[in-house]
Order: sequence, then C-alpha cells, then structure tokens
Amino acid sequence: MSNCIFCKIINGEISSAKVFENEHVLAFLDISQVTKGHTLVIPKSHKENIFDMDAETARNLFEAVPQIANAIKDELNPLGMNILQNSGKDAGQEVFHFHFHLIPRFGNGDGFG
Ligand code: 5GP
Ligand code: ZN
Repeated sequence: MSNCIFCKIINGEISSAKVFENEHVLAFLDISQVTKGHTLVIPKSHKENIFDMDAETARNLFEAVPQIANAIKDELNPLGMNILQNSGKDAGQEVFHFHFHLIPRFGNGDGFG
C-alpha cells in the first residue's frame, strides 16, 4: 500500500531500528517506546488488521514471535512481556497495517500500565 507507513518501512523508504527480519516478517523498535525495547512485529504483506488477516499470514507472523521475544529477553533481561494487538480505530489502532506490540516489562515503575 503506497501510503502506508509500515509498508514504507518494509521497502526502506522510511528508516527503522530493525530487531528481526525474515521472508515474511519484520520487527523494529516502536518510534515512541512505552518501555525500553518496545517492538512492533509486522507481516511484509499489507493486512489492515485482524479482520483482514488470512491464516497463512497469521501463521508466518506468529511463528516468528517467540524468537523475537527471546531475542529481546536475551538483550534486555525483562521480567516479563506484554503482547498487544489493536484492531480498529475504536480499539486504539493508529497505523492500519497489522502489528503486534511486544512490550518488555521491568516491574513496578517501568512506566507502562
Ligand atoms: P497502534 O496504535 O496502531 O496499535 O500502534 C501504532 C504504533 O506505531 C505506535 O506505538 C507508534 O508509536 C508506532 N509508530 C507510528 N509511526 C511509526 C514510525 O514511523 N516508525 C516506528 N518505528 N513506529 C511508528
Ligand atoms: Zn502496509
């Protein structure tokens, strides 16, 4: 999608701090991290949100999530991690290219929640 920010990140038009990449999936740091290491995981094919997902894209995407979560864990040593997904404007979705938020948690006072 030509006017999609995350598609522009995938094709390199907009730079990002990459955390992980394979044939189907890209993960990069959120530009406005709610905790240290807040990462977005996206499919390389444009899907608007959960209502627009197909099983194969979902499979490829979620298959990569444990590896990405463990890479963040090894790097930052968080105590836990929230995985969030907003679908639809009224659910708080601001960028309409499907993404999981991986939010490392560092205990009380980490600023989130
Ligand atoms: P949503 O509210 O749609 O679930 O989350 C969108 C997320 O994308 C927000 O956390 C926001 O900070 C992040 N974001 C928006 N634009 C950019 C960008 O250009 N680069 C990066 N790395 N993150 C972005
Ligand atoms: Zn897109």
